[in-house]
Amino acid sequence: MHDAISLPHERLRTVTARLLVATGATETDAVIVADHLVDANLSGHDSHGVGMLPQYVRAIRSGAVDPRAHARIEDRGGAVLSVDGQRGFGQVVAREATAAGMERARSTGVALVALRNASHVGRIGAYGEQAAGAGFASVHFVNVVGHPALVAPFRGSDARFSTNPVCVTVPPANGRPAVVLDFATSVAALGKARVAMNRGEAMAEGLLIDAQGCPTTDPKVMFQEPRGALLAFGLHKGYGLALACELLAGAMTGGGTLSTVPFETDRIGNNMLSFLFDPQRLPGAGHLEEEVAAAIGHVKASPPADPSLPVLVAGEPERAARAKRVAEGIPVERATWEQIREVAESVGMRLENS
Ligand code: NAD
Repeated sequence: MHDAISLPHERLRTVTARLLVATGATETDAVIVADHLVDANLSGHDSHGVGMLPQYVRAIRSGAVDPRAHARIEDRGGAVLSVDGQRGFGQVVAREATAAGMERARSTGVALVALRNASHVGRIGAYGEQAAGAGFASVHFVNVVGHPALVAPFRGSDARFSTNPVCVTVPPANGRPAVVLDFATSVAALGKARVAMNRGEAMAEGLLIDAQGCPTTDPKVMFQEPRGALLAFGLHKGYGLALACELLAGAMTGGGTLSTVPFETDRIGNNMLSFLFDPQRLPGAGHLEEEVAAAIGHVKASPPADPSLPVLVAGEPERAARAKRVAEGIPVERATWEQIREVAESVGMRLENS
């Protein structure tokens, strides 16, 4: 077991929000970012949780993130919205972009939201859940710019794009929770390598190559020069989806791709192309709830190959993690807490050891 402390989510929310206010955010925006990060921890995605704080503070200090910026929404006619994130907190501007898309989809049935120039938007499932909570289905494609490349293309030996996540959500109905499929197109997110490194653990095989293009399990290859690369999932298929993110989220939103947007110290820029639509307007609406419930039941009825590992549906692992971590606290590895403590001290905040 790695060396970790367990913290109640309320405490992490307060610490995170205070730290962001001390770095220049408004109280309201700090709470939005803090809630997003802590919810990522609660969902079991520590890679996108409070461990990002030192990076966020560095980015604010270097000017890569404007902690006061908000989304500038431009109506492109019909169902189409273009949104400039103006380098604001990704969690703030992507939430604003999603809210604008939901409003548009209420009248048009569907909205296409092209968000560019956002800072790190975090866990994409949060925007899917935002849409699903109001009854919309959604599909999100995201690319990463301004940051070093992390993922090698299929058959390549060095990194050419990033972990480009994809998210698909189907809203809840009849007491059935939303389906939230949300993953990086790399086999593992970079944050998982950071967490493994902080825990002093090796990663599984098949996730990483070193700077020579050889397979390795050492997460440090992603944090030292010359850098290694993460592999895309599913051979040419994941690679193809990652490239689709680069083209849909990067080229089509106007936010750019890793090939054109220059690297900037401390920047993690995200662009996100989102489709939101009202399933009640589609021909399947009359039987949608029964059909979705039947499809999920059918899949989950498959006898598990290992009796201790039942078939799950996307969104279930996160709900289970939330229930457990709300009750028991969020495990934060000591190395991560130490990094947060240091950054807090640098803005004049004192945190206890645990
Ligand atoms: P992951 O590999 O843990 O996959 C998560 C998805 O798989 C979820 O939808 C989950 O419900 C589903 N899932 C997990 N186990 C399952 C099972 N046994 N059966 C069925 N479904 C299952 O996620 P990841 O690729 O490590 O990504 C983690 C997070 O990182 C995501 O929230 C993603 O949005 C985020 N991310 C963000 C960026 C960015 O630039 N902002 C980049 C990469 C990743």
